[in-house]
Amino acid sequence: MISRIDSLAYLKAAGLVAVATLPAVIMVVLTPLESVSAIYMLPGLVAAVWYGTGPAVAAALLGAVMTSLFYPPLFSVMVVRPSQIVDLIISLIVALTIGRLAGQLRAQMLRVREEERRVRQLYDLSSEIAGAGDVAAIYDVVAAHMAEALEREVVLFAAGDGQPWHAIGRPTLAVPAATLAEAALSFAERRGQPGSPDVAVADLPAGGRWLLCGLGRPGPLQAVLAVAMGGDSHDPSGEIVARARSILEEGARSLERLGLTRALEERQLRQRTDALRDILMESVSHELRTPLASILGSASVLSTAPAVSAEPRLSDLSKAIASEAGRLDRRIQNLLDVTRIRAGALQPRFDEIDPADIVNGALDSTAERLSGRKVTLALARDLPFVRVDPVLIEQALINILENAAKFAPGDAPIAISAGVHDGRLAIAVHDEGPGLDRHEAEQIFERFHRGERHADIAGGSGLGLAIAKTFVEANGGSIEPLSEGPGKGTTMRLWLPLAVQRVGESDDD
Ligand code: ADP
Repeated sequence: MISRIDSLAYLKAAGLVAVATLPAVIMVVLTPLESVSAIYMLPGLVAAVWYGTGPAVAAALLGAVMTSLFYPPLFSVMVVRPSQIVDLIISLIVALTIGRLAGQLRAQMLRVREEERRVRQLYDLSSEIAGAGDVAAIYDVVAAHMAEALEREVVLFAAGDGQPWHAIGRPTLAVPAATLAEAALSFAERRGQPGSPDVAVADLPAGGRWLLCGLGRPGPLQAVLAVAMGGDSHDPSGEIVARARSILEEGARSLERLGLTRALEERQLRQRTDALRDILMESVSHELRTPLASILGSASVLSTAPAVSAEPRLSDLSKAIASEAGRLDRRIQNLLDVTRIRAGALQPRFDEIDPADIVNGALDSTAERLSGRKVTLALARDLPFVRVDPVLIEQALINILENAAKFAPGDAPIAISAGVHDGRLAIAVHDEGPGLDRHEAEQIFERFHRGERHADIAGGSGLGLAIAKTFVEANGGSIEPLSEGPGKGTTMRLWLPLAVQRVGESDDD
């Protein structure tokens, strides 16, 4: 059946033939030329280009009838000459050939236009997404765009704002929302499995056919777009699926970019926070040192005053003040050193030193803390010298020993060992305390971090290990926490560079 648009094209083709009649009449009247068939070929040609093969053939046939009007006897259609037949055949061949070529050209042009429209839509999509600040906004933009580009109803499903999986921004739905949500959810779950597709078709018993498209990485943040397919037959490589895929890809790229931007922003924020902390720590430390110096001086003057030294209780008190103030002063000094090392203002004073001296120095400084506890020392024979700043490394070891004493039960032994492994010196401090799980082991070196499980066991500031790490790393070494798990004790291992590299050396402790 010829549609309305088609019949209009036939009418227009007839119109073209009518228009051609005017020059034909003029030609016959004013010139001695007999044949006007060339003039009537033109409507067929134009109709072929503009309206396609059918109207062109109609124009050619009508042109042939009109041509016969101009053969003598003029204006009679009853005359049929061989030349007329030849004209008609030529007209038909021209109409068919040009019609076919023009048809192909038109189809190609439509394809190009369609392609251009899609590229423009994708461009609009990416610029809209660029303005979206978070994942939810990107999902909304992609859903709206998909609905516009595919000219279909699109329902967005995602979990958000503490709510479970639900349809977003669709107050009215032709199908029961729960049925569609269920289909979307089970598709989202399937997406997590390797090799599963990012697009699938769901036939809902009471809700027709839906194309389900996964957006974002499979996981709790992903979204599913359900595109209403109506009565469309399922063809996974079809037009709609291909277009849905290109929109999804654009969305996925933006989500990826957003993730990277987030990570960068978080890193910058952390760096700024660290820098602020450094400034704060430095200024507070400076402020504290002056009154502390007076307390230290006064305490030592007091302890030597005859009235105080004659009274044992007062003498002990003044000594305690001096010792605690001394400890506080060392801690503040450590904090200042950390901020200066981080700022590059303090360089370690390297020396070649016997590791046993470092271990013994640290044990002397923590003697009070370790008193009454069994401490075993297993240093390998002929330990090679290390090239480090002894003050910094001794302080790092003091912090580790203090932690072992602090977190392990009072009667649990502490084992210290040292030996060479893989061309480096390892000093290990083992305690039988609460141990560390993997997550805890990753966090203990962060400044001000205090393990939740350990905070009740002993007090602290969460700075000891951060300081130790900074000192050891400034010396070209590293600290490694080892534990078989909660309740199974902890070994803190310091790795230090040897003074003279001993190639091929292996475990000798
Ligand atoms: P603080 O001891 O002041 O809490 P640290 O920086 O020295 O701060 O230690 C940080 C955290 O690392 C501690 O709060 C604890 O959770 C954990 N930790 C450190 N040493 C040990 C250890 N020997 N055994 C178990 N946990 C430890």
